[in-house]
Amino acid sequence: MGQPTSNYFSNRVLKINVGFLLAAGPGHSHDTTFDAPAVRVADDLTLDYIRGPLRLSRNKEGVLVQGELQVGFSGECYRCLDTVTANLTIEFEELFAYPSPAAAEFSLHDDGVLDLGPLLRAEVFIATANNLLCRPDCRGLCPDCGANLNTTQCACAAEAVDPRMAKLKELLESHKR
Ligand SMILES: [Zn+2]
Ligand SMILES: [Zn+2]
Repeated sequence: MGQPTSNYFSNRVLKINVGFLLAAGPGHSHDTTFDAPAVRVADDLTLDYIRGPLRLSRNKEGVLVQGELQVGFSGECYRCLDTVTANLTIEFEELFAYPSPAAAEFSLHDDGVLDLGPLLRAEVFIATANNLLCRPDCRGLCPDCGANLNTTQCACAAEAVDPRMAKLKELLESHKR
């Protein structure tokens, strides 16, 4: 009772209770399938959907998480800053250490909850860093006036004169005098 019926914008779906795996001991594994609508993964990342298989395997060091998730991502084109929506495949294999050593990048909470959020956030940022384009041949923004060259043709390029042509122009001008 009182539970929200939708996971929309909640990252609760990314917090997986693996207490049963910790208790079962090394060698046990659990397969699950994600099928979540829009999830707020972190303050700076919301995914339109998360779908795909996830395997949790208990080993001596903790719980190994293997996934191949399809996620819907909305962000800015690297070149023209237009909004881009992309369907990404995020593949990962990461150990969540338990009990948690101080140096571990990912670890399990003492209550047996595995939070997939920080891992998913890191993987999505790696997948989209400096390579997300609105289209493969995006022409980007004019470095001089900032115009979006996909939609407009600014006058900057026409005014910029080839240095060799500039010399010729100079010569012609001097002959006129
Ligand atoms: Zn673009
Ligand atoms: Zn321009």
